[in-house]
Amino acid sequence: MKPAAGQRIVIVGAGLAGALLGALLARQGWQVELHEKRGDPRQQGYAGGRSINLALAERGRHALREADADEAVMRHAVMMRGRMVHFADGTQRLQRYGRDDSEVIWSVHRGDLNITLLGIAEAAGAHLHFESRLDTVDFDSRRARFIDDRNGDAVEVAFDALIGADGAGSVLRAAMASVADLGERVEPLGHSYRELVIPPADDGGFRIEPNALHIWPRGDYMCIALPNDERTFTVTLFMPNHGDPGFDTVRTPAQARALFERDFADALELIPDLEADWQANPVGMLATLYLDRWSLDGRAVLMGDAAHAMVPFHGQGMNCAFEDCVSLARHIAGADSFEAAFAAFEVERKPNAEAIQHMALENYYEMRDRVDDADYLLQRALELVLQERHAGRFVPHYAMVTFMRIPYRVAFERSEVQRQLLREATAGIESLDAIDWDTLDAHVRERLDVLDPER
Ligand SMILES: Cc1cc2nc3c(=O)[nH]c(=O)nc-3n(C[C@H](O)[C@H](O)[C@H](O)COP(=O)(O)OP(=O)(O)OC[C@H]3O[C@@H](n4cnc5c(N)ncnc54)[C@H](O)[C@@H]3O)c2cc1C
Repeated sequence: MKPAAGQRIVIVGAGLAGALLGALLARQGWQVELHEKRGDPRQQGYAGGRSINLALAERGRHALREADADEAVMRHAVMMRGRMVHFADGTQRLQRYGRDDSEVIWSVHRGDLNITLLGIAEAAGAHLHFESRLDTVDFDSRRARFIDDRNGDAVEVAFDALIGADGAGSVLRAAMASVADLGERVEPLGHSYRELVIPPADDGGFRIEPNALHIWPRGDYMCIALPNDERTFTVTLFMPNHGDPGFDTVRTPAQARALFERDFADALELIPDLEADWQANPVGMLATLYLDRWSLDGRAVLMGDAAHAMVPFHGQGMNCAFEDCVSLARHIAGADSFEAAFAAFEVERKPNAEAIQHMALENYYEMRDRVDDADYLLQRALELVLQERHAGRFVPHYAMVTFMRIPYRVAFERSEVQRQLLREATAGIESLDAIDWDTLDAHVRERLDVLDPER
């Protein structure tokens, strides 16, 4: 489609996905109106409220490159080479994510990233409206009503297409569900999270290794810490809602300190304001959102967390949302109607979103419970050897998801086969010396074709 005069695309939510999509569509020449319920973070500071920083991977970086945003974002990104696992006995070990520094992930600040993307969207010609919260939608007359919560003023906005980038609690999704059955299912994880801060060291530097994602795995619960450009770390405690420990039993700052003294002693030394952080930062819920459909013919479509919120354990929610942006912009450019574009977008992205939602749930178990197991470490070592022996055919799971852009669905299917191969080959042995390489090589060639990175 070529943008016609007077045609207007209205995007609800100018968070991470909304801002990037706004930039991509404005660059195609569309009249784009972005409506964000919060104030302009460039003037008022970023009012985030959750996950201060995020892991950016190749899928997200590719999308940023499409909008010429990668360079600006990467200026403040901190490289993470692997997981620094902090064992219960106080020792630590780095488990690299990839083969070398070309295979890493990046910690980016949510507020900075959002501000950069808003600037790029505006420079591309998108119109930004802050303090503008979607209230109701009349899909028949294609009009949306937005409220300014500072004074209650309402504005009616006409749209040709309405795009929901308004996050997991999407109001547009609720409006669509009132006129069509979207088949919505929300599956709470039963675990939640709370954020804490490791400030800079007295000399202004980082207190612990900066180029790593730190993990304190403790079975049913764990802490992680991601570095920030300003030499701090954001620590996130993930824990069941109920149990011992659980957010129902660890409620007060004193109870939090007791938990950290017992299970995260080396982390506690780094968090001088534990009690204040505990009180200041709310408990965040985690859930997976599934929908049977994302669009209402050519009138409205959902994307990002609004369509497929996931648990954060693969660090892919934003990366996936950014892939959505590129896909949706491409389908809008290539189709002959919004209806065809939204349908093609959904066909392409829904199976992939479901695959990463599944992998994100699996990764929680791996991070909190497996990264310090001997059989896990043996399988991981074997994975790296097979990667060398079968280059392009056996590609580690993490690499397919994180360093490549093959569809998530393909990564998921191949990972299942590979996991089975790893399990079979390491069953009952304690060292790679005991592997029967001829048999294993034959199985790899039999069950895995060569991976086409362009697929
Ligand atoms: C603890 C945690 C850690 C995470 N870590 C990672 C990570 O490491 N890597 C990664 O890739 N992903 C991560 N994620 C996931 C990531 O945060 C989301 O997938 C991403 O923010 C989705 O972007 P979005 O634009 O779809 O939604 P959001 O970022 O939620 O943006 C939605 C926007 O819409 C606005 N809005 C909401 N309602 C309205 C309304 N009615 N009217 C107007 N505007 C509205 C909101 O104010 C917001 O600005 C993490 C998530 C959590 C919770």
